[in-house]
Amino acid sequence: MARSAFPKPSQVRVTLLPEPVTDATPFVVRRSVWLGARRRVEVGSNSTLEPLHPELCLRGLMKLEVADDEQVITFMDANGMVTKAFFDEASTGKRLPVDERHVDHARWWLAAARALVGHWEAHIFGEPLDEPWRAEGFVGVGPGLSAWTQFATYMNEGLRQYPTFVQIEAGDLVFGRNWSAGLYSGLCRQLAYHMNAEGPVLRRCAKQGCGQVFGSQQGRSLKGISRNDAIYCSAACAAAEKQRQYRIRQRAKEER
Ligand SMILES: [Zn+2]
Repeated sequence: MARSAFPKPSQVRVTLLPEPVTDATPFVVRRSVWLGARRRVEVGSNSTLEPLHPELCLRGLMKLEVADDEQVITFMDANGMVTKAFFDEASTGKRLPVDERHVDHARWWLAAARALVGHWEAHIFGEPLDEPWRAEGFVGVGPGLSAWTQFATYMNEGLRQYPTFVQIEAGDLVFGRNWSAGLYSGLCRQLAYHMNAEGPVLRRCAKQGCGQVFGSQQGRSLKGISRNDAIYCSAACAAAEKQRQYRIRQRAKEER
């Protein structure tokens, strides 16, 4: 296979589910961080939640020298700490120190973040996708699908804390699907949608004897003027109620 023959950027569809991310400044845990004995990352006891600088991933992160302990520490002190300890050794071909607070763990996660951003930039600008990975030490990552699989896996690992994930479709292949949400989760999420003040108003069907509850898209009052459309749960109920009222009028006429 030619180096970047498949998939071409135009053949790849990347979807963010269940909704696009509209907030560029997510909150992360911030603590004071310093380098302790045996290159251990020491952290202060006070933690706060702070928003990331806008475009930190495009700018500050991509200027970071991840090989430099002091830079890694300063970066975390200024922007937030890397809270994950595990690192995938298979794609790096390296063994990490057993001590999960060793600076190498933070370094590798920041390298992974740099590789993700580099991958996306390469995708946008039509450059080889494996180079950003290799540059960050992920020597097991190849071009094309190999890089996309890596991208989806690493993005979704990071996005696990947020209600968004990445799905990649390349031809018949789909990866990055979120298999973790079951029916109960889906139902709770759907109810949360209906709890949303900006969403449709809950109505009970106006047809006698129906009582079905439904979301009326047009129902939310505009500028204090309440709107009256969509009072039936279905076209069938609307028709049945129309019929009933017609019969009532006919009967009234006959009795007159
Ligand atoms: Zn109904």
